[in-house]
Amino acid sequence: MESLIGTCKVNVLALAGWFIVFYLYHGLGITLGYHRLLTHKAFAVPKWLRYLLVLGGYLSLMGAPIVWVGVHRLHHQKSDTKGDPHSPQDGFFHALGGWMDKAKNYQSDGELHRQCKDLLSDPLMRCLGDAHSLKSPIVCLTVSILFRVAIFMFFGPWVLFVNLAATAIVFLSTQLVNSVCHLPSVGYRSYETVDNSKNVWWVGLLSLGEGWHNNHHAIPTSARHGLKWYELDLSWYVVLVLEKLGLANKIICPPERVPVMPPGGTAIHVRK
Ligand SMILES: [Zn+2]
Ligand SMILES: [Zn+2]
Repeated sequence: MESLIGTCKVNVLALAGWFIVFYLYHGLGITLGYHRLLTHKAFAVPKWLRYLLVLGGYLSLMGAPIVWVGVHRLHHQKSDTKGDPHSPQDGFFHALGGWMDKAKNYQSDGELHRQCKDLLSDPLMRCLGDAHSLKSPIVCLTVSILFRVAIFMFFGPWVLFVNLAATAIVFLSTQLVNSVCHLPSVGYRSYETVDNSKNVWWVGLLSLGEGWHNNHHAIPTSARHGLKWYELDLSWYVVLVLEKLGLANKIICPPERVPVMPPGGTAIHVRK
């Protein structure tokens, strides 16, 4: 009986470990790969690491990186005004996810290409999709299902279950940034940006630092989003570790005093 309890304990611990691994891989794939690296060029990493990070986001159903980046750059340019693809001004559930099949109403493929010229030159990125069409989400879903079939075959149903749970929370946390962090009734503002962005602590925890969204809208190109000591930003700490390992450079940091910046503002201080 005791040994049975011991085995169960080990399994629970192992599953908790798997959960953390999957949560970090998929979560950082979005926050560091898709967002701070591809969209805002907040730091630079070797190409292999760039692809490894982006793959983590891709396997959590974020879709084609070019499309994700194009939509997010548009969000920064039009935040909470006409043309913002996912502002809660158009309804909370629209911002939470309803916008996904309507993105092409906000951005033509021509405009998407103009937004993402830097990524279109990468054949692998282009191969994953470069248009607002059904094709790229279907390819992403298929690859993500195959990845989970492999998890099931190599590690069994419980590890697959843990992966699905981690993926669901990571996916939801990204949508919470788009919706909750632009609501007037929650969180706080450290900067008077021209949009309604807010810092929301619990979204910050779930989304590995992306919930400090008012800070991010004030200084979009900064690799660091959590700026006060209590604004935990796990993604930023990972950037610092990568820098220590010699795997990240050209890291853009916030200035000592942050001026009011328009959406899409430019870099202020770059660490070598
Ligand atoms: Zn925003
Ligand atoms: Zn952003």
